[in-house]
Parts: sequence; structure tokens; C-alpha cells
Amino acid sequence: MIIDAHCHGGKGDLMTAPWNTDAPLRDYLARADAAGIQRTVIFPAFNSDYARANAELGQIVRRHAPRLIGFAFVHCARDAGRIRGMVADAVQRYGFQGIKIHGADALPNREVCEAAREFQLPILVDVVGKAEVVDMIAPQYPDVPFIIPHLGSFADDWRAHERVVEQLVRYPNVYTDTSGVRRFDYLVAAVRRAGASKVIFGSDGPWLHPGLELHKVRLLGLSKDAERRIMGGNILRLLSRRRQSVVGLRPVAA
Ligand SMILES: [Zn+2]
Repeated sequence: MIIDAHCHGGKGDLMTAPWNTDAPLRDYLARADAAGIQRTVIFPAFNSDYARANAELGQIVRRHAPRLIGFAFVHCARDAGRIRGMVADAVQRYGFQGIKIHGADALPNREVCEAAREFQLPILVDVVGKAEVVDMIAPQYPDVPFIIPHLGSFADDWRAHERVVEQLVRYPNVYTDTSGVRRFDYLVAAVRRAGASKVIFGSDGPWLHPGLELHKVRLLGLSKDAERRIMGGNILRLLSRRRQSVVGLRPVAA
């Protein structure tokens, strides 16, 4: 099964850039279908109220069940003190299966890591080039899987790519996704040095084309087994750590 492990859905409320205005799914889903992508991990666009954004995403996930797999977006500073409750809602009411954090909001704190541990969820955290924080969080929470998207930087920061490749090798609980990585040889290096089990296909749809991003994985020229792991096996393994979560099940009703 091919799973896109990084996509956004729903409306943002800030309206200063595409990523905080709207993440429309109609074209994305048609493109993903055409590329043979059968499941998509999805989280809200940037928002000033993630509890509301997660609830809206819950509706979208339910409408498309079982096609989409929701991750809850939390802001580690603004939502401090209520993160556990937001994550509990996301899991129990909307059937979400992971947590998304963006370093442009705030970097991970203990509260979110404890919630991930309690609910056995992976955390997908965009470290916005600050790869050094991975050296803090990963050894503190060895039982929490951290997915560091874009090899540490959507902005082509090659120093962050270098460091995340090294972290993939060193920490068993650190993974990366392929979304938006343009400097192709860093993807080659990630697979060669850390192994195909540490790299996860993601597109950063709907703004990036899922078929184009998936083609990057094919261009790595890996064995069928390695390719299968990157295209879906790895994320599936992280999601199925939770007893009640099986890709293909409908989310629990509210
Ligand atoms: Zn993204």
C-alpha cells in the first residue's frame, strides 16, 4: 500500500500565505489517486486555534474514511497546559493517529512528548532547520517516534540535512520524510547511511504534487523491498503501534 505521510487539509485563518489560508483536497486526491497513493496522513494548515482546526479536520477525515489518517496539530507554547486534552480529543473523538508540530509555532516541549508517549503516537515535527533540537528530544523520549520532515529543512538548508542524516543513523526513534527535499543526494545519503527503514514518503500536499514527490522515491532506484518500506511500510509500522489503530478502520464516532 502506498501511503503519503505528509499532507495538509482544511482552512487556515491567518490568510497571509497559501499554507495558512487553505489546503483544498479535491485536486490533491485526484492527483494522489492517479499516482496510486491509497492512504494519506493529513494535518491542518497553520491556524490560530488548533483545537478548532483539528475538529474541522476530524470532519474531513470522517467524510473521506478510510482514505485519510488524521494527525492533531498543537502549538507547544500557546496550547501549553491543554495539550494532553487536545491530543485525547483528537484520538478518542476523531480517531487521529499522530501529532504534528511546527517549529515556526514552537518546538516540542515535555508536555507534547508525554502525550505522545501516553497515547503511543508518532510526532511529526518540522524543526525549521534547527536540527540540534532532535539531539535533545530523541534521547529523552526513546519510545516516541519522531518524524523530521523535509530532512530538517523545507528551505534547502543543507547543514540541517547533513545533521538529520546523522541523527537518523544514531537514534532508533528518529525518521525523516521525503517531502519537499530538492537536494536529491541528501535523500540518497539518508537511505544509504541510515537504511530504507528510516525514510518515509511524504508529499507536503496539497501544495506540492504527490505524483511528483512519489517519483523522487522511484528515482532512488532501490530494491522493491526498500521502496515498499519508504512508500508505506515504515509509516504503517509507526501507526500500528497503537492497538486500536489500523489503517482502513473508520475513526471512532464522536
Ligand atoms: Zn507540511
